[in-house]
Amino acid sequence: MNAETPPGDAPVPVLTVVIPAYNEEDALGPEVDHIASVLSEAGITHEIIVVDDGSTDGTAEAARTKSCTLIRLPRNHGYGAALKKGIAAARSELVAITDADGTYPAEALPEMVRLAGEYDMVVGARTGGNVHIPMVRRPAKWFLRKLASWLSGFKIPDLNSGLRVIRRSLVRRYAHILPQGFSFTTTISLALLCNGFSVKYLPIDYRRRIGDSKIRAGHAWDFLLLILRVMVLFNPLKVFLPMGALAFLVGLAKFVYDVTKQDLSESAVMCLLTAILLWAIGLLADQNARLGLDREAWPR
Ligand code: UDP
Ligand code: MG
Repeated sequence: MNAETPPGDAPVPVLTVVIPAYNEEDALGPEVDHIASVLSEAGITHEIIVVDDGSTDGTAEAARTKSCTLIRLPRNHGYGAALKKGIAAARSELVAITDADGTYPAEALPEMVRLAGEYDMVVGARTGGNVHIPMVRRPAKWFLRKLASWLSGFKIPDLNSGLRVIRRSLVRRYAHILPQGFSFTTTISLALLCNGFSVKYLPIDYRRRIGDSKIRAGHAWDFLLLILRVMVLFNPLKVFLPMGALAFLVGLAKFVYDVTKQDLSESAVMCLLTAILLWAIGLLADQNARLGLDREAWPR
């Protein structure tokens, strides 16, 4: 890692904006200028940290011409890794994250900063009147959002929005479970929701991207595994109880059928045993979650 434009003795700003950028030479410069002018106009003192995540184009050069701190990673580490580097280097406690691609409206930041006084995390939810999410991505996004909402017990309007304002100390607290890749935003959302932190969703627009997206179809599978893993970590009963109930109902149906035929089958017994095992594993995982994973949960 190699940080340029060191901050020196400048006073600590109210907000640090972290922008991960991987091959964003066209969009990055205008994005930095835009964010700076919106925040200056709103009277919010700020610093902007661009994390060049091993770009092979002119991203670093674009950042050097702007008033921002540039952190260069020697190779491509991933969205989450770039965010963590940037947030770790932030001088302020309040941190905003956004993309370098011109999609998220920086105009929402002043309101998000205001709301951050009342909530632990403020998320720009892409549910505004002017949202350009590619059609091919929508079914997978919908399914993952519904699954996460059901498992966490919260209505989540946008699971992995990349425009957020959050406290640096909260990211640090969950750093050990935050992934290196695109699942970073989904993980921090579920971690905060499952542990009783307050999350505010502010409707925003979402513009068409400048340059190519780095998300691939295979990332949908990563998101699915991630949702299950985070839930097993923080609220395992939500996963194991329904799975056990399904096995129990199948076993019970087969058992009743077998009784009418006066011929008890192995499959009915197997299903009922599976249900008991799943419930037992769920209870053990629940104990584990309660005992070890959130030692700092005492209110500030
Ligand atoms: N990005 C990154 N490293 C990566 C992939 C992406 O720093 O390995 C950056 C990218 O330049 C962008 C942000 O992370 O600023 C989000 O990526 P992208 O916009 O491609 O994802 P999408 O918004 O399409 O989900
Ligand atoms: Mg993007």
